[in-house]
Amino acid sequence: MENKIQELFGSMVFGDSVMRQKLPKDIYKSLKKTIEEDKVLDITVANVVASAMKDWAIEHGVTHYTHWFQPMTGITAEKHDSFISPIGDGAVISEFSGKELIRGEPDASSFPSGGLRATFEARGYTAWDPSSYAFIKDGVLCIPTAFCSYGGEALDKKTPLLRSMEAVNVQALRILKLFGNTSVRRVVPTVGPEQEYFLIRREDYEARRDLVFTGRTLFGAKPPKGQELEDHYFGAIKPRVKAFMCELNEELWKLGVYAKTEHNEAAPAQHELAPIFTTANIATDHNQLTMELMKKIASRHGLACLLAEKPFQGVNGSGKHNNWSLSTNDGQNLFEPGDTPYENAQFLLFLSAVIAAADDYQDLLRVSAAGAGNDHRLGASEAPPAIISIFLGDELSAILDSIENGSSYEEHGKSDIEIGVHVLPKFPKDSTDRNRTSPLAFTGNKFEFRMLGASSSIAGPNIIFNTIVADELSRFADILENADDFKSSLNKLIADEIRTHKRILFNGNNYSEDWVREAESRGLLNMRTSVEAIPCYISEKNVKLFTKHKIFTESELHSRCEIHLENYCKVINIEALTMIEMAVKDILPSVTKYMKSLSDTILSKTKVNPALHSKAENKLLEKLSVLTDSMYEKIEKLSCDLEKSHDIISLRERAEYMKDTIIPDMEQLRADADQIEPLVSAEYWKIPTYGQLLFGVN
Ligand code: ADP
Ligand code: MG
Repeated sequence: MENKIQELFGSMVFGDSVMRQKLPKDIYKSLKKTIEEDKVLDITVANVVASAMKDWAIEHGVTHYTHWFQPMTGITAEKHDSFISPIGDGAVISEFSGKELIRGEPDASSFPSGGLRATFEARGYTAWDPSSYAFIKDGVLCIPTAFCSYGGEALDKKTPLLRSMEAVNVQALRILKLFGNTSVRRVVPTVGPEQEYFLIRREDYEARRDLVFTGRTLFGAKPPKGQELEDHYFGAIKPRVKAFMCELNEELWKLGVYAKTEHNEAAPAQHELAPIFTTANIATDHNQLTMELMKKIASRHGLACLLAEKPFQGVNGSGKHNNWSLSTNDGQNLFEPGDTPYENAQFLLFLSAVIAAADDYQDLLRVSAAGAGNDHRLGASEAPPAIISIFLGDELSAILDSIENGSSYEEHGKSDIEIGVHVLPKFPKDSTDRNRTSPLAFTGNKFEFRMLGASSSIAGPNIIFNTIVADELSRFADILENADDFKSSLNKLIADEIRTHKRILFNGNNYSEDWVREAESRGLLNMRTSVEAIPCYISEKNVKLFTKHKIFTESELHSRCEIHLENYCKVINIEALTMIEMAVKDILPSVTKYMKSLSDTILSKTKVNPALHSKAENKLLEKLSVLTDSMYEKIEKLSCDLEKSHDIISLRERAEYMKDTIIPDMEQLRADADQIEPLVSAEYWKIPTYGQLLFGVN
């Protein structure tokens, strides 16, 4: 086993060991330096690297390469070019230059740009991010790249992520220097995303237009059994699912993804995969690959993988827990409480930065998890509510209390915690101590953000985390760099921050109604829907933040706001059209056929024996007839309201309209259909039921 994993791991990656083997020493060194110092790659070096990369790829049977990028669609994009280059006389050689490696020019006119780029200047360019290694996928050499317009504006999720990593690096280094830590050269955010998903039978998936077009079910009556017996969570994995997981692991390992933990999740047919954490941009690339491979490998096993955040109403949704921390190039985790008073003081300062950041930028954390799909999940019974708060656990909370009040901290035999003097007690990292209801939990040495939906790119929340923490660190550094007495200023700063921002700390049950009320009295934001959250990208405070740290320009922010609102409207529009189509083509025909069979039965029974009443058939027929009429009205209303939506020019108004008119119309249509479903004979009901979908795989 050990050997097999070792042999597979990274075998499809042009990673460090291959580079060391295939590149001349000086070129290897120079490339390493470029990666470590985040410099621009020299073209002569790029030429040698490109040629070695091509030879390595050809050894693996590869004929094409692609710049692999992450446009604002949330998925990845690729355009394949072959290595061939004509040399006259109809002959060709294979060629791949440094220029082709570091820069590409895809025609970008069909990717969302939010008005950043007019179609007449449609060109965009892609630039290699050498810190994320090239790899072979489906016989194509993939080069991870950032994607920008000709004016240099970001058109993707990667560019701002790299910028935000740089921002937090710069500010964290300023803080470390104040603590006398001058040997650290770089601070990087580390990320481990836990990915939840559903697996259902492929034939059931294909038989439902809603799953095919929208990724989630738009109709479906509650099955007799759901997750109430709690017999799925961590349960034995079914053989077919196990076979899927094995192949998925192997394919991920080949691509250098640290797939580590797999288990069944709370809902029937729900599972989870967690990788070992790595640098934020690589974790982002790897999570995109993971989602892509999950879908592809599922279909090889006769399964379909659902990544929608709420594929089934009334059943747990799927999230993606984004575990985030900061790490130095010499391997220190900056959120690990240390063994010495000095390390503890530094830890407490970084902790204060996250607390302040989460409070000052609640809106941005919320919007980082926004999207039409996640609105069905956030605030639902099993998912974190739309209110941001931080869970620290009792012990750390007690320590912060004592720092804030200058009072004693008794529990651990210390009478007084003085920053920079006392050692903090060790905090348990045991998962039993976790508060599973918190949207943002400190879990011993990292922060776990649980609001994100399963299908989203993790770039969004990590851009926000890096930026808002960088901002607080820069504010702290400004104060401390000018302090006369570092120790007393540090003590005062931490106590002040805790005092100012403690409203964001909450250890209780986030799912309770009481919390919603309490959060309101604390003045915390509660943005229930994406439509409310998205415009906060362009609030004055946030424009200031992003431009100060050079993450987004003001026009990039406006473009992102537009893209998100437009995407929201499009998703709801597709869902509404799909509902109408299913209602008309699948549900109505099933129920009318069944009603015909009921009426035929009633008629033939009376013919045979006029004394027979056909009570059951009559009752059923009446119920179905009333419900069908009602459902038809709902279809008409939805169609008519949807027509009206096309006349609304302002995106923000259209999004509001989709939320306030179209979504309620859809809910009403569904309510009728879901009442009809349990009354119709299985023989006539065409679309796979929730029971089949959730319990079909064995
Ligand atoms: P669980 O939350 O299920 O108990 P763990 O706490 O072990 O599991 O880890 C969950 C995820 O957090 C994993 O992907 C893990 O690699 C990641 N993780 C652990 N340490 C860090 C860190 N320092 N930075 C970022 N992610 C981390
Ligand atoms: Mg976890």
